Amino acid sequence: MSEKYIGIDIGGTSARVGEFDGLDLDTVRKREDFQISNEYPEDMERLAATIRKLTEGDSPAGVGLGIAGEFNEDRSRLVQSPNAQGWVDRPLREDLAAELGCRVVLINDAEAGAWAEAGFGGHDQDFWFITWGTGVGGGIVEQCSGGPHVIAAEPGHHVIRWDETSPQCNCGKRGCIEAYVGGAKIAERFGKPAAELSDKEWEDVTDWFARGLYSVIRTRPVNLVVMGGGVASKQARHLPEIERKLNEYLGGLRAVKVSGATHGEDAGMVGALAALRAEG
Ligand SMILES: [Zn+2]
Repeated sequence: MSEKYIGIDIGGTSARVGEFDGLDLDTVRKREDFQISNEYPEDMERLAATIRKLTEGDSPAGVGLGIAGEFNEDRSRLVQSPNAQGWVDRPLREDLAAELGCRVVLINDAEAGAWAEAGFGGHDQDFWFITWGTGVGGGIVEQCSGGPHVIAAEPGHHVIRWDETSPQCNCGKRGCIEAYVGGAKIAERFGKPAAELSDKEWEDVTDWFARGLYSVIRTRPVNLVVMGGGVASKQARHLPEIERKLNEYLGGLRAVKVSGATHGEDAGMVGALAALRAEG
């Protein structure tokens, strides 16, 4: 039996495919990236060909695939996806499993980030994983006797201000955490990308984020928040300020550490591997 495992991260326009030697090493041994066309048959063909290239023709032992969107109940197909609309309602899990001759696990992109930290982040406590990129997502990681476990959650759509003047969120509501601090919403609110904000504008962003995290922490109390995603990694210098304000709002209820994620841009592939291991 092959010990080659495949972790796939489907982003807005590209697929990152990584090969891992076994389930316990978080190092991507070989990788291939390609642009997705959003035409399902074409993308499946390309994906299968890329995997076979990485495994030198062998059937992989398992494939984990992370993609933005929501799945049906048994997690075999997408029912909604912001980027890969052409893949929606297609039998993604069965098609890949039949094509490659191995088991396939599907997770969403925020869960993949959480799984990367849960499986390979070296954390020994329960924590909130927050993806801070174009949008805001995340999940709760619990340390259970059988190993860490990721509980799906939507912290980005926690409403922090119910008010008609609050910024509109992508989910249709107003005043969500994402509507204040998501990368796309930062660009909309300030008319420039996150990288160009002034110190005063960053004060606004970090303050809303700390208020949002206050509510998130009160909902599921933990002492650690791990932040992944593009904005979190590029703007990591602002994490200490978010941590400081969050603890100020908590007013001594508990001391919460806010830290950056471990895996950088490989997190999606590593997380898909960790989810595969957990379901194995
Ligand atoms: Zn929302």
